[in-house]
Amino acid sequence: MVGEELDDDTRERMRQREEQLRQEMTRLLQELEQRNVELMIPEQRSFAWGALLLTALQQWQFWAIAGVLLVLSGLCLYLRSRSRRREVDSSSSEEESSSSDDEPMEEVEDDHEDANDVGRFLEQHIEWPVQNLRNDLQKVKELVNKLLFVFGHLRSRSFFPVLLLPTEVDSAFEGWPPHEEDIVYRVLVPMTPPRGHVFYLEGGTMPQMQMRYCHIRVELECTCTGERLVEGMLCFLHHPEEELRRNQAPSLLHTLCTDSYLDVEKTARWIHQLMKASWVALHESSQWRLKMLPPSRSCKFQIKTRNDTRLLIELMFGVQRSKSDVYVSNESAGALFTPTTMWVESYAVAEAKFFSHVAREAPRNSFHLKCLQLCTRILVGTSFSSYTMKTIVMHLLTSIPLSHWRRRDFLLRLLDIMRYLRCCLQEKRLDHFFFGNENVPEEIILPPAFQTAAPLNLFQHLQQDPAAHAEALREFGDLQDRLTRLLIFGH
Ligand SMILES: [Zn+2]
Repeated sequence: MVGEELDDDTRERMRQREEQLRQEMTRLLQELEQRNVELMIPEQRSFAWGALLLTALQQWQFWAIAGVLLVLSGLCLYLRSRSRRREVDSSSSEEESSSSDDEPMEEVEDDHEDANDVGRFLEQHIEWPVQNLRNDLQKVKELVNKLLFVFGHLRSRSFFPVLLLPTEVDSAFEGWPPHEEDIVYRVLVPMTPPRGHVFYLEGGTMPQMQMRYCHIRVELECTCTGERLVEGMLCFLHHPEEELRRNQAPSLLHTLCTDSYLDVEKTARWIHQLMKASWVALHESSQWRLKMLPPSRSCKFQIKTRNDTRLLIELMFGVQRSKSDVYVSNESAGALFTPTTMWVESYAVAEAKFFSHVAREAPRNSFHLKCLQLCTRILVGTSFSSYTMKTIVMHLLTSIPLSHWRRRDFLLRLLDIMRYLRCCLQEKRLDHFFFGNENVPEEIILPPAFQTAAPLNLFQHLQQDPAAHAEALREFGDLQDRLTRLLIFGH
């Protein structure tokens, strides 16, 4: 373009283009408004969406972002279409006549997303993390399954918890890891009681943390008769202590428990040792390097593969709540001191199932994960957690039709997410996704009490602490700035 004089034709085309852009912007803004009206319809929203959205609509920043982006994308596409036109002009007329057949497949497949598609502009413009994710996920899955297979053999004659097949959970496996440099591959390994033992979950809530937890009481059960009879095993309840001590491994009560309750840290140390013992049995151990991180509540390890890829894997472990997708796990209860017999309720498996459900139901190339990925990227250094964004996106995925999460809707959905967050901050209320929520897909199995439970407010702390609330509102301003910068500059 440098040094090129604009001829009358070009000037006229630019004027027309400007007019077209203005019309397009009006259309998009109307569409945005239309979406908001649609959003107000479902009455099942647990709080007054309509009123909140109207308040949010007055936030001029969103319109400003939308406007700037539209102009930018318009100009970008204008330049592209000009250069394309020039190429066409310089080619022979024969080629010109067949050019419509030569359109790249991508364009044809793109469900009529037109040249003014803001989503396409953003997708190409934003620097996404470069990841070899699919390959790494497969490696991690295979490795963990092999390790658990070896675990099974190592523990065959002992009375430690039985470890079942793991479920892959959290952002890496759900497809939205915010940063490429600190991906943690998390799997949750369900545990069941060993022979002759029973687990009883004794629940409670920590009101200040809005967190639910359990203590896992371990009891022995008679294995002398009936269905529980186990060949070659002495009954912990009815065989003399001396005989038990000489001929049988100690019960779980004497290994991983504290005062009859299963201890999280002792269990983590046991899994840590099992990991080390199992690793040497795998043929990968001759080529890859294993580095165990010191066990605390969690059990993490790093694998360095032959081509120097580092994979940080976290083995979460937990006990299932009444045959549901909810577990009590070794997750930590945040900054608070967590007693070692306290197991925190985890919804990681239910969430992973939710995201696979959405992936199945949503149109191909849905952009919901990219929306979540981008919105969690801007949270670094703020008090907002990625769980807040995840919860918001889960709520929106069940209130906005999945067909409205395509690339062309990218900007609108980003604005929806930010608006939802702002409304929640103003209300000091963000409902946990799985409590008292009729929109949870049926295939996710929740304990029956969850449906009738009062919603758990993830922003409870903002109600109790005005300073934290003021700080969160200030940080929200930062988030808006960061998102605007990310959208405009691409990084
Ligand atoms: Zn017995």
